[in-house]
Amino acid sequence: MKKSLLIIICLLSLVVDASAERVRVRLFSNNSIDNIAISFDLGTYNIYADDTILIEPEVGIGKSIELTPVGQKVHVTIDGYNYGNHNTIHFTANDTACILCLNPRNLKHRTYEGDLHVSVNKNGKLFIINEVEFETYIAGVVQSEIYGDSPDIFRVQAIISRTWALKNINKHRSEGYNFCDQVHCQAYLNRCVRPDIMLGTMLSSGMTIVDNQGKLIDTPFHSNSGGQTANSEDVWRSAVPYLRSVNDTFSYHMRQSEWVKVINKDKWLNYFASKHKVDIHNDSIRNLLLSFSQSERKVRLCGVPLTRIRTDFQLKSTFFSIIYDSVTERLTLSGHGFGHGVGLSQEGAIRMVGLGISYDSIIHHYYTSAHIQKNDIYPSSYVEHYIQQISQIIEEDKQSNTQTKSKKDDWLGRLFRLRDREEREEVYDPTTEELENDWKYDW
Ligand SMILES: [Zn+2]
Repeated sequence: MKKSLLIIICLLSLVVDASAERVRVRLFSNNSIDNIAISFDLGTYNIYADDTILIEPEVGIGKSIELTPVGQKVHVTIDGYNYGNHNTIHFTANDTACILCLNPRNLKHRTYEGDLHVSVNKNGKLFIINEVEFETYIAGVVQSEIYGDSPDIFRVQAIISRTWALKNINKHRSEGYNFCDQVHCQAYLNRCVRPDIMLGTMLSSGMTIVDNQGKLIDTPFHSNSGGQTANSEDVWRSAVPYLRSVNDTFSYHMRQSEWVKVINKDKWLNYFASKHKVDIHNDSIRNLLLSFSQSERKVRLCGVPLTRIRTDFQLKSTFFSIIYDSVTERLTLSGHGFGHGVGLSQEGAIRMVGLGISYDSIIHHYYTSAHIQKNDIYPSSYVEHYIQQISQIIEEDKQSNTQTKSKKDDWLGRLFRLRDREEREEVYDPTTEELENDWKYDW
C-alpha cells in the first residue's frame, strides 16, 4: 500500500513539474489599452471575476467579451450585457488546446494560448498578463524574433531565446510578471502558428547555452554583423569570454548586409565640435572626420565612441566608412550590418543553416567557448513522435499549393492532440492506437 502510494505521489509530482513551468508575460506592454474585445478561437475557458466565477457554463466560440477600465476596476460586458466592475478578470483555459483572440481598440489583433489575467494599472489602463507554458512562450518568441524557412534556424533561435528567458526569469518580478512582450525582454507578438517553428522549438527542447562553469550565458543577438561581430566591451562595459569578435563572412549578401546614409558636412563636424569638444579646425582631425574608414571594426572616432555616434545619428551599425564629396559638401556613410554586432548574427546564422552547417556549430561560431547543455523536459518517445508527426505536416504543407483554413486547422488539431497525449500520459507509447473521436474541438 505504502509503495503504491509513493508511486502515485511520484507520478503526481511529475505532472506538477511539467505543468509548473509556466511564465507570466505582460501583453501590449508598450501600449495604453483603454478597451479590449476578447473572443475565443479554440477550446473553452472559465471566466472568474477575482475568486468568483463570472458566467456559467464554460465560455467558448461565439461569445464576445469587452473589457474597459473604470477607475481601478475592470468593467466587463459579455455579448452586450453588463457584468459589473471587478479588480481582476481571469480567463482560465480548460485544456491545453485553448486559444484566445485579443482585439485592443486601434491595434492589430493577436492570438494567445494559455490563461489571461486582466486588471487596471496605476495609470488607469488595462494591465494584461498571459500565463502560458514556457515552451509555448519560447515558440511565440522565435516566431516574433527571426525570419526564415528552415526548422534549423528556429532551433538556433529557440536555444538562445530559451537561455535568455531562463537567465532573466525574474526581470519583471517586482511588477508581478516574468517578461514583457517587447524587445526590452523578447518580442512575443502572437502565439506560434507555424509548424516549422514548432518543430525547431521542439528539436531544441531543454537546450540552453552555458559557460565553462555551467552557468547560463548572456545571449545577445543582432540582425546582421556586416562581416565581423563585435567584442562585448566595445559596445557595453565588460569583456565577456564568450562574446568575442569573430570574422563572419556568412553575414554578407543578406537583407541587412549594407546600408548608406548621407549627412551634411557642417552638421557632422558641428556635432563633434559642440557635443564632444573635438578641435575640427585641426587639419589632421578634420581629415580623419571626413575620411574615416573601417576595414575591420574600430571602437572610436576622434575619441568619440562609435556606439554614441550610432545612437545620435540613428545609424544601423557602428561598422561604417565615410566618403566625402567636396562638391556637394556631403558625406556618405557606407555601412555594414544592422544592430550592435555582439553575439549571434541572425542573418549569418540563416546563411549558415542554408550551407548545411549544424545548429551547434552555429552557436559555437558566435558564442565562442560556450557549451550547449541539454535537460530532458519531455519523454524522448514523445519528442520523437512529435517530430515525426510535425515533419509529416510540414511535408504535406509544402506539397499543397493552397493553404486552406481546413488544412491549417487539421495540422493544428493534430499538434494539439499530440500535446494532450503528453499531458495525459507520463510516457507516450506510439504503438497505442489513437481513437478518431478521442479529441474533438470546435473550429
Ligand atoms: Zn521587459
